Amino acid sequence: MSHIYNFSAGPAVLPKEVLAQAAAEMQDWHGSGMSVMEMSHRGPEFISIYQQAVADLRELLAVPQNYKILFLQGGGLGENAIIPMNLVGHGATQPATVDFVHTGSWSGKSIQEAAKYANVNVAASSKAAHFTGVPPVSEWQLTPGAAYLHICTNETIDGVEFQQAPAVPAGTTIVADMSSHILSRVIDVSQYGVIFGGAQKNIGPAGLTVVIVREDLLGKALPICPSAFDWTIVAEHESMYNTPPTYGIYIAGLVFQWLKRQGGVAAMEQRNIEKAALLYAALDADDFYQNRVAPEYRSRMTIPFYLRDESLNDAFLAGAKQRGLLQLKGHKSVGGMRASIYNAMPIEGVQALVNYLNEFAGR
Ligand SMILES: *Cc1c(COP(=O)(O)O)cnc(C)c1O
Repeated sequence: MSHIYNFSAGPAVLPKEVLAQAAAEMQDWHGSGMSVMEMSHRGPEFISIYQQAVADLRELLAVPQNYKILFLQGGGLGENAIIPMNLVGHGATQPATVDFVHTGSWSGKSIQEAAKYANVNVAASSKAAHFTGVPPVSEWQLTPGAAYLHICTNETIDGVEFQQAPAVPAGTTIVADMSSHILSRVIDVSQYGVIFGGAQKNIGPAGLTVVIVREDLLGKALPICPSAFDWTIVAEHESMYNTPPTYGIYIAGLVFQWLKRQGGVAAMEQRNIEKAALLYAALDADDFYQNRVAPEYRSRMTIPFYLRDESLNDAFLAGAKQRGLLQLKGHKSVGGMRASIYNAMPIEGVQALVNYLNEFAGR
């Protein structure tokens, strides 16, 4: 096999250059005589790694100065509980109400977690349409005075992506789970109150969670919120109230530097548009393969698809593996196949997959 291309949904492919640099620096970071894993998180070496990572992420996403960038543990699912614990503390109604738009598996999980801490109103759902799109914003039944509105802007399992921030009434605090498409496209951070994501899709290793929060949303945590997850405390201590996931922050920092060398998020977005167009064209060529998402909500990052004849699934996966195309099996809850083509997937990998799709379909 000349090339391996890894289509895993997460933990997912990382840029080869980043892995090579991390390997070269593994035992001795910049002449310090220490691995990053062995450094005190409060020492000057790690503080410089942390500060550079925060500054680069701020630059890449043009994060305004009135937003804090926090590095936490707990992953995306952990954050689903941490968010209500941080945002419903001083609601006008007790307990506070939070709005959700249910567009797939991940927003569904988020609803379950939030319901432990707040009244949950499902303002809209595409469940009846088998999660093949986003209900029109004009039909969302938002709660006046809700603490926030939670959306998942890229449903990783269902392959549904918001193409822009929803046009909700001014004053609505949008909390966006961007785990599986953060840094893949240009966004306007100021349209969101909170942006968060587990790192293991498009940023770095599992174990790191990134939270970008507008400062006026701090100071609202429930008394039961663990200190290590209280954003106000974490922000006051520059993500060092407890030991942060130091190696994850280091790798994320290398990924941010790599993204800057690629031309930043706008340049990545152009490549991601090209990659997704190439793959969807092959899936749409005839009815051998099928992607069921409405075209205007199709994800550029996480692309589920089905073989018309599902009895060929095993043969498809075995042939793919032989050609170095790994981890194409769909999520167990939906079956079929899934190709995750994150930032670190080169267009050559997508082309190799397209060649195989055509070959297998006998085109
Ligand atoms: C992967 C993912 C998560 C988080 O998963 P963890 O395993 O808890 O880190 C959350 N939301 C979305 C959209 C995801 O893709």
